[in-house]
Amino acid sequence: MLALRAARLFDGEHAALLEQPVVLVEQGRIVAAAAGLEPPADAEVVELGDATLMPGLVDAHIHLTFDASRDAVGRFDRVDDAELLTGAREAAARALRAGVTTVRDLGDRNYVTLALRDEPGLPRILSAGPPITSVKGHCWFLGGEALGVDGVRQAVRERAERGVDVVKVMATGGELTAGTHPHLAQFGMAAMRAAVDEAHRAGLPITAHAHGAPGIFNAAAAGFDSVEHCSFTTETGASADDAVIQALLANGVTVSATLGHLPGLELPPRIAALIPQLSAVFHRIREAGVPVVCSSDAGIGPAKPHDCLPYGVGEMVTLLGYAPADALRSMTSRAADLCRVGDRVGRIRAGYEADLLAVAGNPLVDTAAMHDVVGVWRGGVRVR
Ligand SMILES: [Zn+2]
Repeated sequence: MLALRAARLFDGEHAALLEQPVVLVEQGRIVAAAAGLEPPADAEVVELGDATLMPGLVDAHIHLTFDASRDAVGRFDRVDDAELLTGAREAAARALRAGVTTVRDLGDRNYVTLALRDEPGLPRILSAGPPITSVKGHCWFLGGEALGVDGVRQAVRERAERGVDVVKVMATGGELTAGTHPHLAQFGMAAMRAAVDEAHRAGLPITAHAHGAPGIFNAAAAGFDSVEHCSFTTETGASADDAVIQALLANGVTVSATLGHLPGLELPPRIAALIPQLSAVFHRIREAGVPVVCSSDAGIGPAKPHDCLPYGVGEMVTLLGYAPADALRSMTSRAADLCRVGDRVGRIRAGYEADLLAVAGNPLVDTAAMHDVVGVWRGGVRVR
């Protein structure tokens, strides 16, 4: 048995931290977590000192096959699937070292990330395979183009047969893909409804990439479980649409806000100008009470290495106005629930997987503590 002792513990849900906790782990699972527990005499006791234990982080939106370079998209023309797989393995390992013990890949090529799901030494990996997109639509180069209602229906069936964990649909254009428009919808309502119908029939969650209000609305009305980005991009900036926010709320849609940027990089002026507008959008989403998960979209560029998720805590607090505990919840219990693994990970609770992160100090007092990692455990095995 393993016994972890720390100064405090965030259980994935409650803002009140547990003081002087002991977490007992056996055969990869949490046996007990409480203050002042006496470990059995034969337990291996690990003293973590002035550290905060928390559940391993869950990144609900990552791209393991993108290499986080300036040419992350162009690279797909030059590398074969074997090289994509090698890079994806390294990317997953990098996320794990930062304490991200579960990742959900929302777009690879040729389903390569599915092969990583059973490899030891990596985070738990959930995969969407190639995102479903319109002909020459956002990220078409990943191979997920689908034409019309029947094409979309068939594409979801193919993914279910390949054994994906989630279905991803590009509901609007995106920044990465020339010739597409983030503010415009790529699919009509009939195709969006068909996608939801097929995914839910197969027992799979379905999420939509959507920037502009028309695509966000379509996803909410069609019954998608979540919307990625949800930036309310317009032709010239970003501006919240309250009717669409109410549609998200009414349909129980979770927003996956892709945050977590490596600091210190100079932003293109157009993006820098957009930040106050995006901040205003997300204040409105928060105030309306729409559930928000903090994910990363890691891999798509230099500000997005595969271990950038922890930067999202500080961004949620300073830019979006969340309480620190809510920010942490959004990448632990709430993210795990969205990914439908909330019965196993995302909380420190007896019976749950011993996927754990310890950081120095108290991240509820100073969010920078998230970057001072003391230890990471995946299934009870210490990986850092
Ligand atoms: Zn993405």
